[in-house]
Formats: sequence, structure tokens, C-alpha cells
Amino acid sequence: MGVNLDDVRGDLSAVLFTESQIEARIAELAAEIDRDYAGRLPLLVGILNGAVMVMADLSRALTIHCEMDWMAISSYGSGVASSGVVRILKDMNTSIVGRDVLIVEDIVDTGLTLSYLIDNLKSRNPASIEVCAGFRKPEALRSHVDVKYLGFEIPGDFVVGYGLDYAGRYRNLRGLGILAPAVYS
Ligand code: 5GP
Repeated sequence: MGVNLDDVRGDLSAVLFTESQIEARIAELAAEIDRDYAGRLPLLVGILNGAVMVMADLSRALTIHCEMDWMAISSYGSGVASSGVVRILKDMNTSIVGRDVLIVEDIVDTGLTLSYLIDNLKSRNPASIEVCAGFRKPEALRSHVDVKYLGFEIPGDFVVGYGLDYAGRYRNLRGLGILAPAVYS
């Protein structure tokens, strides 16, 4: 059943979105993607581990066919601050030459991860590259990453749930919340 928001309210300083609010927004994004990619076969590239929930829900909300592949990129480790170090830990299994690639990401903070990834994937000659992200923080507006399909704008706080962890936990939380600073200080 996953972890319910009510079960961990004490660990959160705020609940930002419930499961059904996220589900409704993902359905809207899927409808846009259905329209934009009609007659094509997009390759959804999910960024492990955080994007598993967005990928699972988005792909099943699509009515067009799609393929899926995964990459793992180093990001925060187990802390709460961006390291700025981006490294490919696991590459895709699929060639993207001539493909319509849709990167599926959990959250965009500084945009460092995504801008590195987009440059890297562009050099592999896909037909197109777009980004779908569940959440975006204000800091991202200073970067030049274009997120075509965005779930929600959120504040700059450290959030958990819906695939996003703190020290490995909370990924299976149904909904998204701000982690109370007392939990990590
Ligand atoms: P960026 O490179 O945009 O600064 O960071 C992107 C990555 O950092 C995300 O894919 C995610 O893994 C991680 N991240 C950024 N903000 C948060 C957050 O509030 N909570 C969690 N759990 N991870 C975050």
C-alpha cells in the first residue's frame, strides 16, 4: 500500500501534494504527450532512482505506445545539498540515434543534472529531446533547462515522497512533503 502521508506527518513540515493531486496532474501531462507524439514512438528515459514513480504513472497514463529505458546519474548521495558533481553510473541499453527521447526526471533543483544529461544525449544524435519532470524548484529558473512537461512548481525546501528519498527512505510515500529539518539536522 505504500507509506501514507498521515503515517509520517511528524517527519514533514508540510504536505505539498496528495497522491490524487499528483495523479490528476500526471494525467494532464500524459494527455499533452499523447497529442504531441501522436504517430511517433517516444523513448522515455527515466533517471534512477527518483523518477521511478513518475515513469510508472506517466507511462501508464499514456494511450500511445512508448518504449522505456533507464539511466542512473550521481546526485546528492545521502545528504540534502547538491554536490554539483554529475556522473553516469548506469547508461541506457538502447541506442537513441534518430529516436524521440523524452527524459523523465523526478525533480529539477539547480538543473545541473539535467543540463549535463541533455548535452550528453544530444551528442548521440537523437531526432528530438524533451524533458518531463515531476517537480521544479525556484533555483532551476537560473539554469537554461527547458522542461516541456512539468508537474508542479514547488518551493526550494528539501522534499520527500513520490520517488524522492532522504537517506534511502520515503520513496514509497504516497504524496510529496517537505521534510522537517529536525529529521536531518
Ligand atoms: P539538480 O542537479 O537539478 O540540482 O538536482 C537534481 C537531483 O537532485 C534530482 O534528480 C534529485 O535526485 C535530487 N534532488 C533535488 N532536490 C531534491 C529534494 O528536494 N529532495 C530529494 N529527495 N532529492 C532532491
